Amino acid sequence: MTDNLWLPRAATGVQTLKPYQPGKPISELEREYGISDSVKVASNENPLGCSPKALAAAREALEEMALYPDGGAFSLKAALSAKHDLPAECITLGNGSNDVLDLIARVFLGPGLNTVMSEYAFAVYPISSLAVGAELKIAPAKDYGHDLEAMRDLVDENTRVVWIANPNNPTGTWLARDELEHFLEELPGGVICVLDEAYVEYVGHEDYPDGSLWLSRFPNLIVTRTFSKAYGLASLRVGYGLCSSDIADLLNRVRQPFNVNSFALAAAEAALQDQEHIDNSVRNNREGMQYLEAELKRLGLEWIPSVGNFISIDLQRSGDEIYELLLREGVITRPVTAYRLPNHLRISIGLPEENQRLIAALEGVLA
Ligand SMILES: *Cc1c(COP(=O)(O)O)cnc(C)c1O
Repeated sequence: MTDNLWLPRAATGVQTLKPYQPGKPISELEREYGISDSVKVASNENPLGCSPKALAAAREALEEMALYPDGGAFSLKAALSAKHDLPAECITLGNGSNDVLDLIARVFLGPGLNTVMSEYAFAVYPISSLAVGAELKIAPAKDYGHDLEAMRDLVDENTRVVWIANPNNPTGTWLARDELEHFLEELPGGVICVLDEAYVEYVGHEDYPDGSLWLSRFPNLIVTRTFSKAYGLASLRVGYGLCSSDIADLLNRVRQPFNVNSFALAAAEAALQDQEHIDNSVRNNREGMQYLEAELKRLGLEWIPSVGNFISIDLQRSGDEIYELLLREGVITRPVTAYRLPNHLRISIGLPEENQRLIAALEGVLA
């Protein structure tokens, strides 16, 4: 939209923004292509859905639709406080963890300041940072993952925030405890490090660090978590940040008073009580990942090794084209051209039958 008449009047940072491209909803595909029975393996949603306990809690909360939600989220914060063994003052709830990322940018970034991230980093970091007028400093990736040394080299006196997704989306790459700890030790204390752990539940490695355990050691650390992925509550929009009470106080000053709705609050609290659902989700993911890797190998395709609930495949040809062809087969995947990975497609791990459907469609389309 280069002919947008209002563009010159928009805030400077906003002028440089491109809208986030979400995964195509099933309803849109079926409307556009006149097909039915399609599958979506595009947005890293939990193919098992949410816990039945969460669904029941949300249903019950529906009765109180006319009332504002608890803006202080007392009950969910108490549950999270117990889970993480941290005071409630250290927890900031968001309308999805994306909301928390946005709060961080609004509190700590602005014109004349810069922020450091990696090539192939999650799309929300540049959007939130540019929107408030900050400059982006992007470190080249190493084997598709974050190169912490290159990131540290970009930090200067005007850097306020460094973003790290562990594991990263869309690459599925991850950082081990030692290297991340070393990075945090070297990072100047006045620079915020955001550690985005949206996929923490899926990572099985013993060298994978739980960033929340570092909060007392690193007062400049903010760890973000979400209920959108393993907990299966993506549509309700609820996530949170863990950090020092001083930082949380600032985030709360810009937070919209009722940014998390009552149904999300109730469902999230109930979801925390259902570890079995998380275990089942993680098992389905592990088995699905093993199946997909074996099948990709059979098809002679390469991929970026991933510890998340998704995998980015190197097609050696335009991912956008294969994406379109797969749509015709009723399979929605996620192109990652906007991440400057034009030959990759990101696939979310589905149910066994969805994974088989994806492989069959991919095999047909590539033949
Ligand atoms: C999905 C995702 C999120 C979570 O987004 P919500 O707003 O909580 O739904 C955050 N970070 C990364 C890297 C993600 O992939």
